[in-house]
Amino acid sequence: MRISDTFGRPLKNLRISVTDRCNLRCQYCMPEEEYIWLSRGDILQFEEISALVDIFADLGADKVRLTGGEPLLRRNLPDLVRLIAKKPAIRDIAMTTNGVLLAEHAPALKAAGLHRVTVSLDTLRPERFAKLTRRPTHAQVIKGLLAVPQAGFTDTKVDTVVIRGVNDDELADLIEFCKPLPAEVRFIEYMDVGGATKWTMDSVVSRAEILKALERRYGRVEPVIEERSAPADRYRLPDGTVFGIISSTTAPFCSRCDRSRLTADGIWYLCLYALQGTDLRGPLRRGTSADELKALITGRWRARTDRGAEERLRNRHRSPLVRISELKKDPHLEMHTRGG
Ligand code: SAM
Ligand code: SF4
Ligand code: SF4
Repeated sequence: MRISDTFGRPLKNLRISVTDRCNLRCQYCMPEEEYIWLSRGDILQFEEISALVDIFADLGADKVRLTGGEPLLRRNLPDLVRLIAKKPAIRDIAMTTNGVLLAEHAPALKAAGLHRVTVSLDTLRPERFAKLTRRPTHAQVIKGLLAVPQAGFTDTKVDTVVIRGVNDDELADLIEFCKPLPAEVRFIEYMDVGGATKWTMDSVVSRAEILKALERRYGRVEPVIEERSAPADRYRLPDGTVFGIISSTTAPFCSRCDRSRLTADGIWYLCLYALQGTDLRGPLRRGTSADELKALITGRWRARTDRGAEERLRNRHRSPLVRISELKKDPHLEMHTRGG
C-alpha cells in the first residue's frame, strides 16, 4: 500500500536516529557540552525498530537512513543493519556518521548489509576541526572516511555544512580530497533548526555563493539534470567530477519531501522543523497491533501539511527556530535527537 500526504508527497524515506548521544560537539548542532539525554529505558530495542520498519515498509517506505546523535555510539549497530537489510521492501539502507569510530566498524557494517555511508566532514584542517567540534579527533575521521571504500562501499557521500568565516574557504579543497576516494561532496547550507542556537542568516553561505566560488576556481559548473527526490541538487565540474548542494535554507525542497524521522525513543516527526511528533513507542509497547499502528501512521501522513523550511523562508527577521531555554525543556527539539 502507498500513501500520500495533502500535497501528494509519498511516504518513502525513513530516517532512524539510533541514539541521541554524540562524541562531537559541532557548534551548529550541539554547541553546549551537556544536554538532557533521552532516558535509557525509552530507547527502542533493535527488534522494536525492526517491527516499526516493517510497518513503514508496508505503507511504501523503501529507504532507511540510520543516524543520530552519532549512530556508531549505539552498541552492536550491525545487528540492526542485519535486521533491516533482510527486508526485501527496503531497497536502500544508508548511514550518516561523523566518522570518528568508522574505521573500526566499516567492515562489520558492510558485512551486515549496509549499502551506503555518508560521512560528515566540514574541514580538512585539524585545528579548525577541534575548534568546530570541541574534540581533537580529526585524524580519526579521516581514517574512518578512508576505510569506507576499503571496506567495499560505493556511492559514498561527504556532507559539509558550510559556514561563513568558518570553512567557506575549503570548498575546492574538500572536492579535491574526495575525488580519489572516491566520494561525492555535498555542501549543506547552514540551517536554523534544533541545536543551531548560534545560527544567523549572515553565517549562511547560499547555494548561489557556493556555485560562484567553485566557478571562480574551476570554470563552468553545469547542473546535472535528473529526476530525484533526494535533497541535493547535483552539479558537474569541467573534469566530470560531480558534487551536490543541499540548499535547505535559501531554496528548500519541501514540495518533493518524502522523508520522516523516528527518534531513538520512538517519536515520529513529519518534518525536521516540526515542534511535535507522534509517539509510536507507547502503542508498540502496549501491544497495539500492526494494523492499528498502520492506521495511526496512515492518518498522520495523509494529514501532513509540513513545509517547515519553506515557511521559515517567509520569515524576514529570521533567528534560530528554538531558543535555548525551550530546547532545555524538550530534548526532542534538538537536531541531534531527530537525526538531521
Ligand atoms: N552525527 C552524525 C553526523 O554528524 O553525521 C549524524 C547525525 S547529524 C545530526 C546529521 C547531519 O546533520 C550531519 O551531516 C550534520 O552536519 C547535519 N547538521 C547538523 N546541524 C546542522 C545545521 N544546523 N545545519 C545544517 N546541517 C546540520
Ligand atoms: Fe556533530 Fe553529528 Fe554530533 Fe551533531 S550529531 S554534534 S552534527 S557529529
Ligand atoms: Fe521536508 Fe520539512 Fe525539510 Fe521541508 S523542512 S524538506 S518538509 S523535512
